[in-house]
Amino acid sequence: MKRVCILGSTGSIGVNSLKVIKQFEGEMEVVALSCYQNITKLAEQVEKYRPQQVAIVDSSKISAFKARCRVPVEVLSGVDGLVEIVKNPDINTIITAVVGAAGLLPTIRGIQESKNIAIANKETLVIAGELVMQEARRHGVSLLPVDSEHSAIHQCLHHRQPDEIQKLILTASGGPFRTLPATDFEKITVEDALNHPTWNMGAKITIDSATLMNKGLEVIEAHWLFGVDVDRVEVLVHPQSIIHSMVEFVDGSIMAQLGSPDMKLPIQYALTYPYHRAPASITTDFVQLGQLTFEAPDMDRFPCLRLAYEAARAGGTFPAVLNAANEIAVNAFLNRQIRFIEIPQLIETTMKAHQNHAHPTLAEILHADQWARDFTQQTI
Ligand code: MG
Repeated sequence: MKRVCILGSTGSIGVNSLKVIKQFEGEMEVVALSCYQNITKLAEQVEKYRPQQVAIVDSSKISAFKARCRVPVEVLSGVDGLVEIVKNPDINTIITAVVGAAGLLPTIRGIQESKNIAIANKETLVIAGELVMQEARRHGVSLLPVDSEHSAIHQCLHHRQPDEIQKLILTASGGPFRTLPATDFEKITVEDALNHPTWNMGAKITIDSATLMNKGLEVIEAHWLFGVDVDRVEVLVHPQSIIHSMVEFVDGSIMAQLGSPDMKLPIQYALTYPYHRAPASITTDFVQLGQLTFEAPDMDRFPCLRLAYEAARAGGTFPAVLNAANEIAVNAFLNRQIRFIEIPQLIETTMKAHQNHAHPTLAEILHADQWARDFTQQTI
C-alpha cells in the first residue's frame, strides 16, 4: 500500500497526483495534503479524499479553512506544519510539489524519516543537491523524479551503470518565445509569457519555461539526480514535447522516452516504479504528429539558461543564489514591476555580487538564499 502525503496538493502537480491516486484505489491512499493558501480547493480535496491531516502554510487562512471544511481533519500551520506532517508514521511516500525553495526543509525531513520521495520540487535539488543526495544515500531513500524530463532519463537509465553514460539530452519545448526575434523581447507582456504552447502548468514554472530558466534548473536537477557532470547534460529544443529526454551511452547508442505531454504519466510512474502499470494515462498518435523537430537553444535570447550553467559550474551556494534571485524576479515580473528582459539582468547582477561558499552546510545555503532574495528585491 502506498500511503501518500502530497506537499502542494492544490497546484497543477498536486491535482494531477490525486487523479492518479484515484485510479489505484486499494493500492494507494491519501494520508496528508498541504497548500500554501488555496483553502477552497484544499477543503474540496479533503472532502473527496479524506486525509488524516492537512498543513496550510499561510496560517492566516486556518480559521477560514476550518469554517469551510465539512469533514474532520487535523490542521497544521506554517512551514513547520509541512515539516510536521511528513513525520506522520502512517505515510510512506511523499510527493513534493510545492513551488520554490519552500520545498527544501520538508523534503530533507521526509528523507530523514526514511519516506520515499517522488520529487516534483526541482528547486530543492537545485539549491541543496549535494546535501539532499547525501541524506538520501544515508537513509536508503529513493528519490523518484516526477519532472517529465527526469522521469524520461530515469526510465532510459533503468539499472545502467554511470560509466555507460556519455551524456544526458534534456529536451525543451522552447516556450512561447522560441521563434520571437531578439528585438521584440522588450515588449513581452505577462499574458504573452503565461501562454505556454505545450504544457499547462502553474504561473511560476510557466514564466521559467518562457525564460528557459526552467531548463537551466532542470540541468542542475539532472546533474544531482543522476551524478552526471553539468557539461555532459545538454539541452535540445524540441517544440512538440513528445520526446521527454534522452540518454546517449558511451557506444553512441541513444535511448529516448516518448509520449504525449501530460504530467499524469511521470507522476504515475514515480508511484508505480519500477513497473509500468495500467491504466494508460495518455495516448500518442505518431501519424497525427507527422514529424518531430529539433533545434539548438539560443543562449543570447535566453540568458537564463547560460546563467544556470554558470551557477552549476561554480557550484557551492551559486545555484541557491540563482534560484532565489529568479524567484524574486519572476514574482516582480508577474506583479508588473519589471519587464521580461529584466529577469535575467537581475539574476546576473545578484550572481556577480555573491561570494561563493563551496560545499555549503544547510545553514549556509539558507543564508545565501535569504541574502539573494534581499539583494534582488533591493535592486528592483
Ligand atoms: Mg520539466
